[in-house]
Amino acid sequence: MMASNIKMENSLAFARIPPWVKAKLRPIAVEKIQQVHDWVETECIPAERIYKIQLQADRWKTPAIIHELRKKAKAQGLFNLFLPNYFEESPGLTNLEYSCCAEIMGRVYWAAQTMNCHAPETGNIELLAKYCTPEQKRRWLHPLMNGDMSSAYSMTEPDVASSDATNIGIKMEITDKEVIINGRKLYGNCQYNDEMQLFILMGCSDPKNRSPWNRHTTLVVPAKTTGLKQVRNLTIMGYDWAPEGHGEYIYENVRVPLENIILGPGRAFEIAQGRLGPGRIHHCMRLIGQAERAFELALVRCIEPLKKPRGKLIGEFDSNIERIADMRMTIDGMRLIVLNAADTMDLQGNKAGRYAIAQSKIMVPNALLKVIDEAMQMYGGQGLTQHTPLPEFWTYARFVRVADGPDSAHRHQVGRDQMKTATGFRKRAEEYTKRYQELCKKWGLEPEEFWGIV
Ligand SMILES: Cc1cc2nc3c(=O)[nH]c(=O)nc-3n(C[C@H](O)[C@H](O)[C@H](O)COP(=O)(O)OP(=O)(O)OC[C@H]3O[C@@H](n4cnc5c(N)ncnc54)[C@H](O)[C@@H]3O)c2cc1C
Repeated sequence: MMASNIKMENSLAFARIPPWVKAKLRPIAVEKIQQVHDWVETECIPAERIYKIQLQADRWKTPAIIHELRKKAKAQGLFNLFLPNYFEESPGLTNLEYSCCAEIMGRVYWAAQTMNCHAPETGNIELLAKYCTPEQKRRWLHPLMNGDMSSAYSMTEPDVASSDATNIGIKMEITDKEVIINGRKLYGNCQYNDEMQLFILMGCSDPKNRSPWNRHTTLVVPAKTTGLKQVRNLTIMGYDWAPEGHGEYIYENVRVPLENIILGPGRAFEIAQGRLGPGRIHHCMRLIGQAERAFELALVRCIEPLKKPRGKLIGEFDSNIERIADMRMTIDGMRLIVLNAADTMDLQGNKAGRYAIAQSKIMVPNALLKVIDEAMQMYGGQGLTQHTPLPEFWTYARFVRVADGPDSAHRHQVGRDQMKTATGFRKRAEEYTKRYQELCKKWGLEPEEFWGIV
């Protein structure tokens, strides 16, 4: 393994990475983190307003600057860094190493897109890399990894509680040569944007199967298939999130060939389980970067010489000094949670990482919403306008509480798992009581009630 020439202690790219993580970074990761940092600082942050102006010209066309940056990023080896090193298609980083890159990407909402590391692509690429045949990989995985097209993940429906995927009801009738699909779907990127060329769709193909886990199938639907209609774009908290958006779709006798089924009929839950990996916390990794930027904007405002209410700088008020301290500690705490989840997946696999993933999904967006909110407050009115990216940061953090499964559902799962440990603790408490009673006898004392167990 070649050593890296980069000195972590001298580079801003590593300033916030905890020592235990720095100690684990391999030279290839040190190089990539520095590269991603330089990329975001020089190519993305200064271009934020250019992106917005270009997007105004056509809301459903990816701005020219993104195309140019994607070409350059690819040439610099910055594409698909998210795909963990156990995939043959991976550029070679671990989840922990990628977390450090993703945080930096998060500093600009669309920076991940310039490096082909954005949602839902990351989850979809992981899914296709894991479950597709070589021929399916050639048709869908390779063009997606190449950045030649983009994709959508389509599970949620308007008429059922989709956080419980056994409810998914869009009909998939499987004949001997094709699958006929009828129903409605919500979300999934907009096909108004020409680059969006395929949906990974989960539907119900065997509603009478005795096991609710074997009733569903996952398959690929090309975006321009006859019978598939986008009804509208769904705004999210008033924003259209163009040029990707979130579509509402109707499927009317949509026909796709059997070769488009992934893994096999009735195996959607196996696939959904496989999708519960690192893709689940990429949003959280990037949110840390957004929160860092919100924090930096607050600091900048704290010493803005033009803003002196009551003759004092914003940062001279004790309440704001305390706010800054709380923001700093919250971000650092949330980073540890995300890095721990990534490391757990690397060391023990995605299944063992389930709790750490849920912990990230529940705690990180909620805590960072508060950080961004405080930054907006310290900024004053302009913190809520297009003068800063703060409103978009806040909205993004808010939607991460729901997208990819609501935090309430994760909390429910964590609580249920914890309840399973109660019997063990009860037994331990009984042992303590028994020992206490023995000690009382030895010392001639009358035993009292002990932890509610007498
Ligand atoms: C911005 C955005 C992007 C999205 N992108 C996609 C996408 O690309 N593809 C896609 O398929 N979907 C997408 N979604 C949909 C998202 O995944 C679903 O909204 C989410 O899984 C919840 O499903 P639901 O809306 O049907 O709510 P329901 O299942 O009806 O749940 C409603 C509420 O009930 C509560 N609840 C549910 N389960 C539990 C539980 N176990 N314990 C306690 N409370 C519970 C929660 O508060 C939950 O929010 C997106 C959503 C948003 C907002």
